[in-house]
Amino acid sequence: MNPEKESAQIILDNLRTYIQMYREWGLEGVNVKWPDAVSVGATHASPLPTTVHPVIDSRASALTALSNDIGDCTRCKLHAGRTHLVFGTGDPESELMFVGEAPGEDEDRLGQPFVGKAGQLLTRIIEAMGLQREKVYIANIIKCRPPRNRNPEPDEIETCSPFLRRQIEIIRPKVICALGNFAAQTLLATGQKISQLRGRFHALPTSFSDGASAEIQVMPTFHPAYLLRNPQDKKRVWEDMQLIMRKLNIPERVTEAGGRSEE
Ligand code: URA
Repeated sequence: MNPEKESAQIILDNLRTYIQMYREWGLEGVNVKWPDAVSVGATHASPLPTTVHPVIDSRASALTALSNDIGDCTRCKLHAGRTHLVFGTGDPESELMFVGEAPGEDEDRLGQPFVGKAGQLLTRIIEAMGLQREKVYIANIIKCRPPRNRNPEPDEIETCSPFLRRQIEIIRPKVICALGNFAAQTLLATGQKISQLRGRFHALPTSFSDGASAEIQVMPTFHPAYLLRNPQDKKRVWEDMQLIMRKLNIPERVTEAGGRSEE
């Protein structure tokens, strides 16, 4: 798709998501029929003015628009106890996304995902893959910290997960690494345990409103917080990361001592 058409398509995708969410939240009077795809430069009855693309002209600005739309969210009860909503961070053009469960205490305080002890371990894993943390995209299924880090409840998941879905649609990663049971089970809509799911890719069919569709490859692996308690399983996580590296053609690095880099 040419860049102008992609920009216009991002706008259309955003509008479609917002309208759908507003309908889901019961707002009346939202009944817009959207075209399935935009035609940039059409001279007749163009569905969107062609001049709008400087406003939302990239994946980064589409994410900003989505973040603005979430705003100071009060859509579920978690807003009452949070300090910061944690939207996500990293490179919107990345081929690789990491998805965790929900912010913990440090993330809630700082407004960034994975910045506590578990987050520092995740950063080391990313660096052991030969990547920089800023060059991948990191987000959570749930954007606000559950009280005392309890498991997210079904109504919270239902309210919040469309935003992650939209982030995935905007970023269009090739691979998502799902960190831990909750992220893997929610993304893959399965009740299977992480120990059964990890070690292989699972296709996540994703349709985009421009008519394109893709099978995003999801690699479930153990959550870094679990690894802090169970360091013997780091080896298995590293095996999962190597599968991701092969899928994305990331070269394996040989350490000074001659061995393979390993977290
Ligand atoms: N655990 C998560 O699942 N997400 C974070 O952002 C931090 C800890």
